[in-house]
Amino acid sequence: MSEKNLPANAANRALAAARDEALSRRLADMRTEAALSERRVIRYVCAKTGGRFLVRFQRDTPEGRFTIKAIEKTAPAPPGGLFGSLLGKAEPEVRAYAAKDFDRTGWHCPYCEAKGSTIYCDECGQNVCSGRTRILPNGDEFFVCHDACGAAGGLETTDEIRGSKGHTHAPALEGPKRQARLGQTVMKRLEGPKR
Ligand SMILES: [Zn+2]
Ligand SMILES: [Zn+2]
Repeated sequence: MSEKNLPANAANRALAAARDEALSRRLADMRTEAALSERRVIRYVCAKTGGRFLVRFQRDTPEGRFTIKAIEKTAPAPPGGLFGSLLGKAEPEVRAYAAKDFDRTGWHCPYCEAKGSTIYCDECGQNVCSGRTRILPNGDEFFVCHDACGAAGGLETTDEIRGSKGHTHAPALEGPKRQARLGQTVMKRLEGPKR
């Protein structure tokens, strides 16, 4: 009897191995699909014109960086300004993401064509283009926010970017925790008004 059992067990082991392999392949496929639809939407305001736009980012693997899929102008702020828009139900939840996960190649402001850094303004709580940022004689950057905000001041580098999840049917994948700030990061943050 035991002689019969040996090949049967071997066959079972082979079947189990095949099942495991099929299962792990299916899990890998599911992870790939989930990652494929991982998106971020970052909203901006043009410093020069006050025009609003959003940038859609997407990444194909959990280890990869988000790259730009689209830059779209959006409607002006609803009446009531920021307060009104915060009360509006259409506004998705905004949170901070690690700036190093974003590849901003091709980023530009569709209103004033500013490139390079973007600024998170603590005063108005918005991402703003660098259209009004200038370099002072001492080499520091001096930022002036859009007219509706009016904040101005020096900039400090930040390793965060504020945005929201794009529409997705996939389960949320949490990115790795934020690490020490990178010298290469190009996100900037207004450090407080110097008027
Ligand atoms: Zn601009
Ligand atoms: Zn501002």
